[in-house]
Order: sequence, then structure tokens, then C-alpha cells
Amino acid sequence: MADENSVYLRVINKNIDYPQQANIMVTPYVSTHPLISDQLRLPPHGGKTRKRKANCYNWKQSKRKRLRQSGKEYINVRGKVIQPRSIKNKKDCKNCCKFKCFEKISEDERKILFNGLWGMSQIEKQHFFSKTTERLDKKRSRTNKVSNSRRKYTYFYNFFVDNIKHRVCKEFYLSTLDISSRQISYYHENKLATGIPAPTKWGKHCKKKCS
Ligand SMILES: [Zn+2]
Repeated sequence: MADENSVYLRVINKNIDYPQQANIMVTPYVSTHPLISDQLRLPPHGGKTRKRKANCYNWKQSKRKRLRQSGKEYINVRGKVIQPRSIKNKKDCKNCCKFKCFEKISEDERKILFNGLWGMSQIEKQHFFSKTTERLDKKRSRTNKVSNSRRKYTYFYNFFVDNIKHRVCKEFYLSTLDISSRQISYYHENKLATGIPAPTKWGKHCKKKCS
């Protein structure tokens, strides 16, 4: 007796227009060589392959990306050494800032904020920006001078220390995290309408065709 797996159905060409009264015969075919039929069902080499899987973790490009995203020193594509990120101090904020940032947030707290951000994944950074920055439409002004201004938005920057929100100036925010204002504007330009950070586009771009 042949087992169930060795039974094949031989289907006669479906595209032929048979007369209505004719019954299409589907003949069960019992293999007399169950071993051969089993081999045919398996992929080549029994599913095993000698091809090595790409280990993209060790790619130069991936290493560079990891170092860059964690704020560490790395060598860019042009071979230039990019210095690691570090907390900066802006004189303007330290001397005469209306928000008194340096009085509200200590050096130790700045270090915690800095290390916190650079230890985050890209999506976590986006969530951090969504919580600590705000972009509002610029208020209309009656003076022509301001209405001609190209700036459309006003940004607000905050830090949370012990769950207390402290408004800080732009210089203090950017220099504490050692990031550029472009990163914040990029986040706000690309966030979804709900304010949720947009999913990362890494590795999702289509290949550009050369014509
Ligand atoms: Zn300040």
C-alpha cells in the first residue's frame, strides 16, 4: 500500500474547452517509487545551502552608523575623523539668559541628559525630541518688518529634571545635547500629523536607476 503522500493528482490541461456533457477525469496516480517522489518534494540539497548569510553588523557602513548615532568618534566616508559629541557651553546663555538655564539645571544633570540622549536608539531620540521641544506657528505681527520674516515657526525647548519641566533657551538645549538645530527642525518637519515620530527611512529608499 502506498502512503497518502505518494498519491499525486494528474490534472488534464485546464485550458481546453471540453464539451459540457464530458466529465473531466482526474486520475489518481500512485507512485511506485515513493523515495523518488519524496526527493522531488524537497528543495535542492535538502534545504541546506553553502551560501553565507550577509553579516551586515560588521559592515564598515554599519559600524560608522552605530558610532555616529551613539555620538562617538568615527571616520566619515571621506576619511575625515569626526570628533565625539560632548557638552558645550554657550557664553550668551551663561551670562545673560532670561530663562536662567544654568541656575535651573546643574552640570551633573546636563551630563545625565547628554548621556541619556546619546544612549538612545534613533526612534527613542525622536520621542525625546517630541517630549522636550515644541513648534508653534509664529504669531502674526502688525509690523511689516516681522511679517516679511521667512521664519514661520517658533520653537520651545524644555528639559525634564525629576519630572519637573524647565523651559530653557535654544542655545542651552542644543549645547547640552551637542546637536544642531537642524535635527529638531527635521524632526518637526517629518513627524506625523498626530505628533508621533515618523518611522525611520533607513534602508527603505528605492534604488535610483541610472539612465
Ligand atoms: Zn539659556
